[in-house]
Amino acid sequence: MKILVKLYDVTGRDGTQDAEFKLPGKRKFKLAVRLDAMGFHYFEGGWPGANAESDEFFTLAARHTFSRIKVAAFGSTGGKNLKVESDPQVQALLRAKTPIITIYGKSSLWQVQNVLRCSPEENLRMITDTVAYLRAKGRTVFYDAEHGFDGFKYDAEYARATWCAAREAGAEAVILCDTNGGTLPREIAKVTREAVQLLPGCEVGIHPHNDCGIATANALAAVEAGARQVQGTINGYGERGTNLSLLEAAANLQLKMGYHCLPARSLRRFTELSQFVDELGDMQSNPRRPFFGDLVFSHNGGRHAHAVGLNANSYQHIDPEHVGNRSTIIVSGQSGKASIALMAKNLGLRIRKEKFGLVLDAVKRQEALGYSYREAGASLFLLFRQAVSKRTLPFTVSKYNVVLAGDGSLAATGTSDECTATVKLRMGKKEFHAVADGDGPVNALDSALRKALARSFPKLKQVQLVDYQVRIIKDRLGSAAKTRVLIGFRLSHRRWTTIGVGPNVIKASLKALIDGLEYALLS
Ligand SMILES: [Zn+2]
Repeated sequence: MKILVKLYDVTGRDGTQDAEFKLPGKRKFKLAVRLDAMGFHYFEGGWPGANAESDEFFTLAARHTFSRIKVAAFGSTGGKNLKVESDPQVQALLRAKTPIITIYGKSSLWQVQNVLRCSPEENLRMITDTVAYLRAKGRTVFYDAEHGFDGFKYDAEYARATWCAAREAGAEAVILCDTNGGTLPREIAKVTREAVQLLPGCEVGIHPHNDCGIATANALAAVEAGARQVQGTINGYGERGTNLSLLEAAANLQLKMGYHCLPARSLRRFTELSQFVDELGDMQSNPRRPFFGDLVFSHNGGRHAHAVGLNANSYQHIDPEHVGNRSTIIVSGQSGKASIALMAKNLGLRIRKEKFGLVLDAVKRQEALGYSYREAGASLFLLFRQAVSKRTLPFTVSKYNVVLAGDGSLAATGTSDECTATVKLRMGKKEFHAVADGDGPVNALDSALRKALARSFPKLKQVQLVDYQVRIIKDRLGSAAKTRVLIGFRLSHRRWTTIGVGPNVIKASLKALIDGLEYALLS
């Protein structure tokens, strides 16, 4: 029987302390529903009363029946020299109507003396009274021991007294927080072991931060020392941008260490979940993200690509499918014919051996122009296809025109800008012509293209443009440099990226747009 380690998601609270990642109430609710369907154990929705977003979430959550996940409201112990029942913050916690209330309290004597500025006894009273009060109201209470590790180093006896105060008042879990993120794995293990021994029958948890780049290592060390609850956010979003990546920790615990967190089928949806949360918070996905990034199971160069083709495990630490990712072959001018063969297979294209040289030459030519296909698999598919096939593309653009005019106001919002795009395109022997307005030239071109293609290809209506990035290739040329445009598309669960290159950013964008729509029609 495998040991269960419960996953406590704090994306809805700690995650939203991130400088860039934001999660309005409805999106937070959407995430909770998604995590519930995957079997996560706990979801912390925020601090009731602190902002409208948290309150909106708690209202939605109270009306919904979750099948597995338990929702938690987060707050602090009652204030100093204040009766807990008259503390408005504690009352707000009750009004959130969640089965669990997680309160944080001071577990560091230094913090009590220098930040809270009350007597050590008063702090213990605050912990005891708040936990006991919320328990008496019928809620499950978890105690987050703030500065749990730093506090232990400063005064171990006092740290222990805070954990015991929470436990004796009825807390069902005590979570040790590495609030400043500076603790090392061996210290995490030592303190966690102490807590597990001191609190029999109590769920001990770990809440690490990634300020030193070792949050995952710390979570794993805590679990080895007896912690059975891990707190973190999806993709590690959080205060100072440094939370534990909960999915990364769970993947290691389950695939490498033999613990059980979630059903295997849920792990196979981790990559999709990681991307879903990026989109939910309007963030770019990091292609280098361990386990889940687009590049982390990619293989470059002839020898590696050849070995992976023979045996998938030769240069991979796990089978990427266990976490819903996939291995890819990167094709560049330095690739050998083995890479071309594997890539063609991955792209679902049948290319005869004698054509490999032809394809490689096409890649080299494009690279000389500034193209890089590392992240633009869909454009590579089209390049391969065009290099070896005489079949024509579904459509070709024969002319385009973009007019952009404004009144000189540079405000981000406003209605004074006008942008119109005209495209003329050819499908077989027929010619089509469309004009469309848009919020900027890329949007106008995209709209005009779709308008011209709508009748012939109704499928394109469902294709969404989800990402747009521009990079400069030779930065010493400043604004005269060549630009590389990457555009991300999505059609239900399928995603693809295309590339366009050129000194004219609008033309490069048009190339990437055309590739994106062609790919949707051909793949
Ligand atoms: Zn935190």
